[in-house]
Amino acid sequence: LRKPLAVANWKMNLSLDDALHYVREFDASRRTVEAVVCPSLPFLFPMHQLSTSMNKPLSFGAQNMHWNEAGAHTGEVSASMLRQVGCSYVIIGHSERRTAGETDEQIHRKVASALAGDLTPILCVGESAVERVSRRTTQVIRRQLTAALEGVKDIARVVIAYEPVWAIGTGEPATAAYAQTVHSDIRGIIRRISPESAEKVRLLYGGSVKAKNASEYSAQPDIDGVLVGSASLSIAEFQAIIQSFG
Ligand code: 13P
Repeated sequence: LRKPLAVANWKMNLSLDDALHYVREFDASRRTVEAVVCPSLPFLFPMHQLSTSMNKPLSFGAQNMHWNEAGAHTGEVSASMLRQVGCSYVIIGHSERRTAGETDEQIHRKVASALAGDLTPILCVGESAVERVSRRTTQVIRRQLTAALEGVKDIARVVIAYEPVWAIGTGEPATAAYAQTVHSDIRGIIRRISPESAEKVRLLYGGSVKAKNASEYSAQPDIDGVLVGSASLSIAEFQAIIQSFG
């Protein structure tokens, strides 16, 4: 029903040489899992071109975008620009961007603009360590989801990534059982917003996912894939993670 999805978020890492090497090394045999790479913006187009010429089943995503189509927004890129360089996905509302000041309202505009521009948004939600210990996880996620998805018609086209802030880059992932509980809550929240979308929407777990723990997540009924940071910088490790979902 839901095709598994493995997303590499490189953040601000690797070189152009590394990026092209990554595409060359990508093993095209595992087609039951959708693989998406989100490199730095300057690498997107050359990676996409190489991937197309080598016939690799790889999709590409950006790590952020602006909600406007065009205009006086120095340093920003729009959905249509991303489409033109081979993107089909875009990460929106990553915790590192929320920490840098991105608001629920901006995230909402970006999700709507991505969908209108034919990009699949990967909407990131998740609680901080303080919110977790004060038992506000569900409340925080409900707020983030409700704000981001308000008025969105085709929620089934959105991918939602649950990334608890305390698990990102810490080497302390959420246990598969904890992640499954939150994913099930997320599906419940989506069901209330849009009953027909709940079983279609793909939910990813992110936060210290490695090759050695990925299969624990793939075994969970509500976890449809992963959003991987540092472990995705190695093509061998990312490939091993993809295989856990295949
Ligand atoms: P790590 O896998 O490095 O913990 O990062 C997770 C993340 O933020 C992916 O978007």
